[in-house]
Amino acid sequence: MKFLVDAPLGGLAKWLRFCGFDTTVRPLSARGPLPQPQADTFILTLQTSLARFGRGDIVILRAAAPEAQLREVLRRLKVSRRDLDLMSRCVKCNEALVPLSRDAVAGRVPEYIWHTQKEFYECPACRRVYWPGSHTDGISRKVHAALGRSSRRSAGGKSPSQRSTP
Ligand SMILES: [Zn+2]
Repeated sequence: MKFLVDAPLGGLAKWLRFCGFDTTVRPLSARGPLPQPQADTFILTLQTSLARFGRGDIVILRAAAPEAQLREVLRRLKVSRRDLDLMSRCVKCNEALVPLSRDAVAGRVPEYIWHTQKEFYECPACRRVYWPGSHTDGISRKVHAALGRSSRRSAGGKSPSQRSTP
């Protein structure tokens, strides 16, 4: 699942990238032209006027705040935990993160972090270093909370196979 989000939804784009989704931001206009539909790609916007294109790949969100928008996307597109790949992508650049050795991050992260963490990742574009359970910890909890809520809402619903473990 990939996303193309309308420019005012930059906050939501960061959440989606944190979840591991390939997310591009660009301004959309009801006057068109709109990007061509692409397989497995959803267009997210707040502009109700885009409904006139009648396209199934355009999702018009109702929530105003990024966190609520994330919950809305996860719920409406029936995203399950298995679809997520937390912290695999730079929230700023959308680039896939690459693993770094501890030696390679020496001096680039706070000493306490270097001593207590084993896994590090780097964005090849902006060189930002990521590690589990750090500045992303709070976000991670919120994503799981959002998913918890969305799966409860769909419990007893149509797709039990999505939640079962293979
Ligand atoms: Zn980056």
